[in-house]
Amino acid sequence: MSWESYVRKVTPYVPGEQPKDKNIIKLNTNECPYPPAPKVRELLKDLKYEEFKLYPDTEAYPLSKALSEYYHVSEEKIFVGVGSDDVLSMAYLTFFGSDKPVIFPDITYSFYDVWAELYRIPYKQIPLDENFKINFKDYYSENTENGGVIIANPNAPVGTFEPVSKIEEVIKHNPDSIVIVDEAYIDFGGESALPLIDKYDNVLIVQTFSKSRAMAGMRIGYAFGCEKLIKYLKDVKFSFNSYTMNKTAIELGAVAVQDEAYFKETCNKIIATRERVKGELSELGFTFPDSKANFIFAKHNTVSGDEIFNALKNAGIYVRHWNKDRISDYLRITIGTDEEMDKLIGFLREYLKK
Ligand SMILES: *Cc1c(COP(=O)(O)O)cnc(C)c1O
Repeated sequence: MSWESYVRKVTPYVPGEQPKDKNIIKLNTNECPYPPAPKVRELLKDLKYEEFKLYPDTEAYPLSKALSEYYHVSEEKIFVGVGSDDVLSMAYLTFFGSDKPVIFPDITYSFYDVWAELYRIPYKQIPLDENFKINFKDYYSENTENGGVIIANPNAPVGTFEPVSKIEEVIKHNPDSIVIVDEAYIDFGGESALPLIDKYDNVLIVQTFSKSRAMAGMRIGYAFGCEKLIKYLKDVKFSFNSYTMNKTAIELGAVAVQDEAYFKETCNKIIATRERVKGELSELGFTFPDSKANFIFAKHNTVSGDEIFNALKNAGIYVRHWNKDRISDYLRITIGTDEEMDKLIGFLREYLKK
């Protein structure tokens, strides 16, 4: 062995499949089934290619300004990045520098342990209860000494939403740690913990354009926190790469945020489809935690997760499945258009008859 012993070895995060075949019904990575806001398309036509010779704005103007206006939060309290994965990764690097473990649930976004491994941050996974619910008291520093907390609300891949009051208790009980709230799915019926940034200096709220704003391909994520916290985050980011977001994403992201009516309409359509599909899945013998996200985490009462996953895949319907302890019988099904969900339900109805 030569240089290989010096390599930073990691087991990477495995993203859901992106099939080349456009005929696949893609319900495996929680993308939005509808296109981005119409204004995005208009601006795309007007973008001036000559401007690509310049570096993008370091503060991501006009995106930062559009977010500031939409959420009524000053720009000093906003951080943006290349998808929330980039924002979360920078937050790990910035805030999780203690020798004490960062804590998060055993069943949650599977990137949380990957970043901890990458940055050599100790971590501890706390089991969800038998109904896949978070026992919030486990996250109080007096019960689990920690160097940071990260919780997804709604939790992925489970889908359940917990009231902001419970998140607030975790923040209160961790005065010496940063609590990150990953709100990737907050726009599908949950309530954001955003107001807490004015009450506590140890909370970072992270959101994304990838799910509710139909811009996964543009890679835009953002976070809210008190000024001091955001300043530390920016210091680390500027020590890493000053120009992470590209000009196109910054400009298109800004107009996407400005189209509130379209955003609300899309989210409401997805919520309506989700509620209908819940009823249909129940009739077919599936059970699932009640979801407030754009997916349902469902298990059939007789057929294994693996079997249904493969049958769906062969039929050109992709969902997500993990061969992992506690969840191997579950399928995470993204909410697509009504037509896509009709095809899914239609297939399952025939398949499960056999
Ligand atoms: C999808 C997702 C993200 C990352 O989204 P980006 O595309 O990087 O913005 C972060 N957290 C959770 C829980 C997610 O499901």
